[in-house]
Amino acid sequence: MARVRLENITKRYGDETAVDDISLEVEDGEFVTFVGPSGCGKSTTMETVAGLTEPTEGRVYIGDDDVTGLAPKDRGVAMVFQNIALFPHMDVYENISFGLRLRKYDDEEVRRRVEEAADIVQLEGMLDRMPAEMSGGQQQRVGIARAIVRNPDVFLMDEPLANLDAKLRVHMRTELQRLHRELDATVIYVTHDQAEAMTMSNRIAVLNDGKLQQIAPPLVCYNEPTNLFVAGFIGSPSMNFVEGTLVEGGLETNNFTIGLDPGRLSGVSIGDDVTLGVRPEDVHLTQYADSLAAPTDPIDARTDVLEPMGDEVFVYLLLSEAAEGSMDQDPATSPNQLLMSVTPDTEIEANEDVDVVLDRSKIHLFDTATGDALLHGLTDRSEREPGTTPTEADS
Ligand code: ADP
Repeated sequence: MARVRLENITKRYGDETAVDDISLEVEDGEFVTFVGPSGCGKSTTMETVAGLTEPTEGRVYIGDDDVTGLAPKDRGVAMVFQNIALFPHMDVYENISFGLRLRKYDDEEVRRRVEEAADIVQLEGMLDRMPAEMSGGQQQRVGIARAIVRNPDVFLMDEPLANLDAKLRVHMRTELQRLHRELDATVIYVTHDQAEAMTMSNRIAVLNDGKLQQIAPPLVCYNEPTNLFVAGFIGSPSMNFVEGTLVEGGLETNNFTIGLDPGRLSGVSIGDDVTLGVRPEDVHLTQYADSLAAPTDPIDARTDVLEPMGDEVFVYLLLSEAAEGSMDQDPATSPNQLLMSVTPDTEIEANEDVDVVLDRSKIHLFDTATGDALLHGLTDRSEREPGTTPTEADS
């Protein structure tokens, strides 16, 4: 296994910059996921590691070697793609061993490696099956076994679960984690699905518009997002954002004011636009908020739509001014709306006047102009300035 280092990777297609000056390092044995919306440059970045795409600028290192100019087969990487592309006329054994036989490994070595790989991905007893006789998940495991037998330094996986149904995808997520543990492998994984990224990775690299936004452990991206993009992308449903203005003693929004010493925020001053971010689980009905150490003052709201999810209920709240006479606004884009998540036993109905509070320790503030995080958590004693968790983007 080996570490992978990208140094100032840029890839341009004509005038378009697909990847914009990305530098990062994946440690030996680490599972790092590139995540971001479609078209943000995830696959292109991974293809520069694989050798399928030559970067316009920058260098790629695997282990201590500069592999930037090397062919894919000389890089010690193995790839697993969304489209598994098994040979339909070959059975599982022949599919898994194809690359080894091409490289003229002796029969005994081939059998040993295939059986070991089949064992790891739990395909024992299926080696004589044809691909048409297997489920999507089993076929995907054949694809992974085919990568394992090559004994690569680095596994590169591009949306390998995208074609599977939702239940199988969740199952394969745990299988891939187990595989990573058993092989002690270096894995770079590409997905647009933030849940997949959150559950499997040691660290996630969030990309947008060709640029690396943050690379950090999943919970650091969740709790201390470096900017508005990461805050909105990681977590489902998304964080609420409320735009406001910094005033003496606090942040003033359309519908409420949050007490705060503006002197604690560096880079912004009184009169500047600051966006408040708060996750749905950190909005509480006032009567259920006794245990909160630091609630905000109560905010008047009216419940709109309720979405019972089984284990929780999503409550769409209209803040007071919105509730009075602007019901024609699209709630999804309204600055006067908050999404709250409550437990199923909460007594609440649609179209009810309620008071809510925000958990001050879970409030995030962002510079509206730049999108950069200013502060995570407004409790007085435990305020954390952004950047206290080092990320490679900072270094
Ligand atoms: P992602 O994997 O995040 O969906 P990609 O890396 O595939 O994104 O693409 C990043 C950007 O580069 C997109 O705008 C895409 O259209 C562009 N792009 C990718 N490959 C090519 C190509 N071969 N020629 C031209 N543009 C490309």
